[in-house]
Formats: sequence, structure tokens, C-alpha cells
Amino acid sequence: MAKGFVSIAAERCKGCGFCVEFCPTRVLVLSSAFNSTGYHPPHVVAAEKCSGCDLCGMYCPDFAIFGGRYAR
Ligand code: SF4
Ligand code: SF4
Repeated sequence: MAKGFVSIAAERCKGCGFCVEFCPTRVLVLSSAFNSTGYHPPHVVAAEKCSGCDLCGMYCPDFAIFGGRYAR
């Protein structure tokens, strides 16, 4: 079971790809779909690998994503 989760606010995203690049366990890819402002937001392809480290959230310039750890 995944240790953490990631939450994406696709409408805030500007498609920079930092979250995809900096995720240590390759949880994310940029979607081929567009949001309403014309950017490709990330989507989750390997939810079970998410540690909840929140590196994606720390690198996102637009506060469009964050990770969190499940309580034990
Ligand atoms: S870092 Fe933020 S703005 Fe950049 S692609 Fe990821 S969610 Fe979108
Ligand atoms: S919280 Fe960490 S492991 Fe999960 S998607 Fe974000 S960077 Fe990747």
C-alpha cells in the first residue's frame, strides 16, 4: 500500500513539469489533456509508489500540487 498520496489542482497548473522531474519515484507524468488555460497538468501513473514526500509540492511554482503521508 502507498505510504502517501498526491493531490493535483489541475486548473492552477502551468505545465512546467517540475513535479514530474523531481518526483523521486516517478509517480507522475504530464497529461496529454489540457486544462482550461491550455497547459498540460500532471497526472498520477503510479499511485502505489507515492511516499508523500511533498517534493512535488515544494518545487511547484503555482501551488498546484502537494503530497502528504498517511497517518499510521
Ligand atoms: S510543478 Fe506545478 S505547475 Fe509545474 S507541472 Fe507540476 S503541478 Fe503543474
Ligand atoms: S509526494 Fe513525493 S513521491 Fe508523491 S508524487 Fe509528490 S514527489 Fe512523488
